[in-house]
Amino acid sequence: MSILVYTEHAGGAFKKSTYELLTYGRHLAAAMGTEMKVLAIGNVADAELNSLGKYGVSALMHANDAKLNDFNVRAYGSVLAQAAESTGAQVILISNTFSGKGMGPRAAARLKAAYVDNVIELANTANGFEVIKNAFSGKGFAHVSVKSAKKILAIVPNSYKVEAAEATVSIAPFSAELSDAAMNTKVREVKRATDKIALPDAELVVSAGRGLKGPENWGMVEELAELLGAATACSKPVSDADWRPHSEHVGQTGIAISPNLYIAIGISGAIQHLAGVSSSKTIVVINKDPEAPFFKAADYGIVGDAFEVVPKMIEAVKKLKAGTA
Ligand code: FAD
Repeated sequence: MSILVYTEHAGGAFKKSTYELLTYGRHLAAAMGTEMKVLAIGNVADAELNSLGKYGVSALMHANDAKLNDFNVRAYGSVLAQAAESTGAQVILISNTFSGKGMGPRAAARLKAAYVDNVIELANTANGFEVIKNAFSGKGFAHVSVKSAKKILAIVPNSYKVEAAEATVSIAPFSAELSDAAMNTKVREVKRATDKIALPDAELVVSAGRGLKGPENWGMVEELAELLGAATACSKPVSDADWRPHSEHVGQTGIAISPNLYIAIGISGAIQHLAGVSSSKTIVVINKDPEAPFFKAADYGIVGDAFEVVPKMIEAVKKLKAGTA
């Protein structure tokens, strides 16, 4: 019996959610009195694989077939299941990301494993196996008692604190069978927004909505985000109108995020928007309407015109960074 952690990466660089998962895996393995095994899939340099030693990884399996250079959900899901079979893993951990949520159910079907997504806390193994997950678009929590022998848990990024632990990584190649059915999708082109902080991984997010009137007014949003080292996001109508790219759309039909800080500028706070951002640790709302529903979900609220408030915030952050505040 063991725990298997899948280490997600983007273009060969591990994501922060992977370090969270490794910490979660280490803690769960200790609680269950078992060992943690680790799987990387695709083209990742040895130096990057070895860097996982900082998160307590000692034994790492690397499935590095050229066919796995591009992310392919069927093939990756199949490799994950095969790695679980070969290690006899009873608990498999993945990140609750687009890729993780694609791979997890496929691997679960093959392994006849239970699949629990949206997990936000370490499983309680004192009496059975219970996990807590976000439910009803983040408006509630569900306590799930998992009975089946094999379990796949998808952990929400930014819900588990990273802890360092020294280890020396030993890398073993993992050769998986890649059937024609698993390889029936061809990736023709990959377009990456490489110069930006990836929204699902961001700890700080500056987001804006229709209150900004038009795409020409996003300069101040980008400036504030850049000063804070934050990612930018937007409401659905903003991306529908092509003011901003769809990759920035957060909410029920967009990306669900849980950063440490979410600053919402000129966004009303409709239930579908809140569904994707209400797990943020701290929410700051700037809106000129004191009755805007978003204020009910806010930790801090500023009633005011975004075109006056945001430039003042930018000046304040600049002063703070220059040590002249
Ligand atoms: P508005 O509702 O127009 O609000 C603009 C806000 O800006 C207002 O509160 C206004 O007071 C404020 N404002 C105006 N001028 C200023 C100013 N100068 N300074 C400060 N504040 C100002 N929406 C999402 O965001 N994400 C989703 O995933 C999503 N999914 C949906 C799924 C379904 C099935 C449906 C039906 C809807 C979905 N929506 C989603 C749409 C959602 O219902 C809202 O219509 C949308 O979130 C509103 O966007 P908004 O807040 O930017 O715009």
